[in-house]
This record gives sequence, C-alpha cells and structure tokens, in this order.
Amino acid sequence: MHQKELEFRAYLKEIAMFNEATALFGWDTQTGMPRDAVDFRAEVSSYFSGKAFEMSISAKMEEFLTYFSQHSDILSQDGLLIYKEVKKEFDLNRNIPIDRYTAYIKCLGKADETWHEGRKTKSFEPFKQSLEEIVQFLKEFIPLQRKDEATPYDVLLNQYEPGMTVEKLDSLFSELRDGLMAIRQTLTEKGTVPQTDFLSRYVPKSQQHKLVTELAKRIDYNFDKGRLDDTTHPFMQNLNRNDARITTRWNEHDFKMATFGVIHEAGHGIYEQNIDARFDYTPLATGTSMGMHESQSLFYEIIVGSHKEFWKNNFSLFQEATEGTFKDIDFDTFYKGLHKSEPSFIRIEADTLTYPLHIIIRYEIEKMIFNEDLPVSELPRVWNEKYQEYLGITPENDLEGVLQDVHWSAGLFGYFPSYALGYMYAAQLYHTMEKTLDFTEEFAKDNYRKIREWLSAHIHQYGSSKKPNELILEATGEALSPRYLLDIQQKRYFDIYGID
Ligand code: ZN
Repeated sequence: MHQKELEFRAYLKEIAMFNEATALFGWDTQTGMPRDAVDFRAEVSSYFSGKAFEMSISAKMEEFLTYFSQHSDILSQDGLLIYKEVKKEFDLNRNIPIDRYTAYIKCLGKADETWHEGRKTKSFEPFKQSLEEIVQFLKEFIPLQRKDEATPYDVLLNQYEPGMTVEKLDSLFSELRDGLMAIRQTLTEKGTVPQTDFLSRYVPKSQQHKLVTELAKRIDYNFDKGRLDDTTHPFMQNLNRNDARITTRWNEHDFKMATFGVIHEAGHGIYEQNIDARFDYTPLATGTSMGMHESQSLFYEIIVGSHKEFWKNNFSLFQEATEGTFKDIDFDTFYKGLHKSEPSFIRIEADTLTYPLHIIIRYEIEKMIFNEDLPVSELPRVWNEKYQEYLGITPENDLEGVLQDVHWSAGLFGYFPSYALGYMYAAQLYHTMEKTLDFTEEFAKDNYRKIREWLSAHIHQYGSSKKPNELILEATGEALSPRYLLDIQQKRYFDIYGID
C-alpha cells in the first residue's frame, strides 16, 4: 500500500475510534446510565463527536482528498472505494455555511421541545412553527447539496438510500400500495379473522427473556459479538464487527413485542457482525444504506420469523419457555393469531401487511412538501385524508396522527422510504434464496446458519463498499420489484385468513 494511503487510513482510523467511543456513550445513555448523569454525558459525548466532525472536515482531510483526486491511481482497490465514500460525505455539507448549520442544529433542539409539547396537548399547533423552520432550512440546504438529482426531494432521498430516485419510488410505491390495498380488501370481504385474545396473557419478563435469547441464537445472532439489554426505544448499536449490541423493551401482556422486536434487532446485528474485516476502521465498515439495513432486520422478522415452518419448529420452545400458559392453544391458532392484520393509526404498532402503507403516506407527504411546496400548516389535514383513503381510518387527534413519529422533528426527511424498501428487498432476496435453499427442510433441522451464510455472502460482507442497487441486482439478478413482497404477503395472509 502506498505511503499516502497508509497515512489516510491511519487518519480515518482515528476518526473511527472517536465515533466508536461516541457510539458506546450513546448506547450507555439509552441502557444503563444513571438519570442524573445526563449533563456530564452530554458534555463528554459532544466533545468526542465534535473531534470526529472536526477531523472529517479539516484542512488535512481536504488535502488528502485533493491529493487522491489527482492521484487516484496510487490507491489500492479498497482504498479507492474508501476515498469515494469519504469524499461523498465531505462534499455533502461543505457548501453549507457553518453559521447556518449551527442555526439549524439549534432549531432541531427547539423542535424536539415543541414536538413533545404538541404530543402532550395532542395538537400540531405548538410544533408547527418549528417544523416550518426545519423545512425552510432544508429547502435552503438542498440547492447547496444538489448535484444531478432530478428534484429537490431526490437530494434528501439520496442521503439515506444512495441511487434511489423519486421516479423509481413513485412506480415501486404505487404498485405496492395498490397491491396491498387489494389484499386487504379481500381479507375484509372474505377472510376469517384469527383469534387473538390469548396474545395478551401474562408472560413474565424472565420467561420472555429466555425465549427471545434462544431465538436470537438460533437465527445466528452471535452473543460473543453482541449482547441484549433493556431500553425504552429499541435499537441496534454497532461499535465494530465484533460488537453489535441489541436492545428491547418488554410488555408482560404482549410477548409479541419483545419476540419480534429482538428478532428484528438481531437481524440488524447479524448484518454488522458479518462485514469483512478488510473494512475495519473505515467508513465502509457498516451497512450500506438505511433501506438495506432494514432489509436484513426485516428478513429475520417478516420472512424467517413469520414463516409458518419457523414457528412449527419453535412452538415447543415457546410452550416450554412460557411454562404452560398457552397449553390450551394449538399451533394453528397460535400461528394465525400472530398475524392478524387490521388498520391502525400508529406506524410502529402496525402489522406487517399494513406497515408499508404507513410509509407510503409519509413519502407522499414529504414529496409534496419539497417538490410541490405544500405548506407545513396543511400537514394534519393531508395526513388525515391519506389515512382515510389508504387505511380507511381517521385519527382522532394529532398525537395519533401527524405527531406520532420523531423523524420530522429531527430533520429526517427522506428517511421513511427506507422502511418500505427494506420490506421489498427482503422479499426479493427470499425469492432468490428459496431457489437453492429449502426453508422448510432447514427449519426442520433447526438449521438457520445456511440462511445467514447466504445473506453474509451476498449482502453483509460488503459493508458499504457496494451500493444497495448493486447489491440487489447482483444477489437476485434484477432491479428491485414490489412483486415478491406482494406474492409473499398474499400467500401468507390468504392462508391465515382461510381464503383459497
Ligand atoms: Zn430496524
């Protein structure tokens, strides 16, 4: 490796170490930190993350990037990929004047407060002005970040899902929306609604813990490279490929929450645990996009963890862990009960069939804000109309509606589509995998490793060195399509609702 690349890598490693420390502080803040420590923690965290940020925009960094832009031939193959990734990040914000950026960060702080205020009063009013300011800032930044993106909203989209465009999403989402609505309509007209009353039976945390830990191990989440802790808003925190931690919350009258929550977060963790060591301490040592990350958690949640054969083979584990609480429930009732589908207001509580509709609503609204200048004051009205149109329900107040998600108050516009993309990626990967791997047979052997190995070979190992559209094309032989998700959901839900 050329001396200059070695120096560049050493510099990146230092940034990565500051980032890893910040991530560890963040994990601790969300899991075990004593309440009164919050001010000290904020001070230390911002010092460390500030160091990493300074280094990433420093004159030294600029010098490296200028040098490599003229001498890219001296870079190794990986070095070139790393350089491109670093340059992309560097270019993204370099045209934003630092005082405007600082003002924006301050505005986000205020927005967090007014969002909480609005939630308390279940009214959009207190939050409205902050959100108008956030949108104004983003509209100011977009032209400074724009390269060749077709519309303003494409710029935001690209930051979370490189290569994704409004044009592609419009077509993917309209097919997905129509397909899901058609399935839902058939279920309503002809289906037999599964029995679900037993789902709220009391299952103590200790029993749930035993169950979910075992399930996470079975799907090949590696506890020597991770751990499970309690938190209020579940997440996976990766520090490095040998330390990808997961968290969950518990509800003793809803075992489904932690069960599927842990399977989901374990899927995120499995991704990080299997990235190739050659990307260590570089920006490529993590999942390639929000959408692809979500595809890995969802693969385990909605493909593996919702598969009938999966539960057939884990039903005895479930019965044993819950110590007889469900001894009167047969497998069929149990499995069907896990998959009742009904329209609901809150995205994170939605079932897997209706979930993407929640995302499509947010996508359409975000696009209206940035591409059609929909005034922020109109959001509650548009929101409620879309819920009525797509899900047949109208929120009673803004807490159930436009205020439910934290994303917009944090400036995360362009992020929501990732969730629905994850569903579609996961289903398409499954469709391909099924051609060479018999899931029923693997589940019967209690063997989940082959599934993990397939995902590691086609997705995980590459970290961010390949973009999502490349990965899906190489892994499945075609570009992303909503068809496979619709096929799986139709088959699964028709079976559960007794429709032939
Ligand atoms: Zn997730």
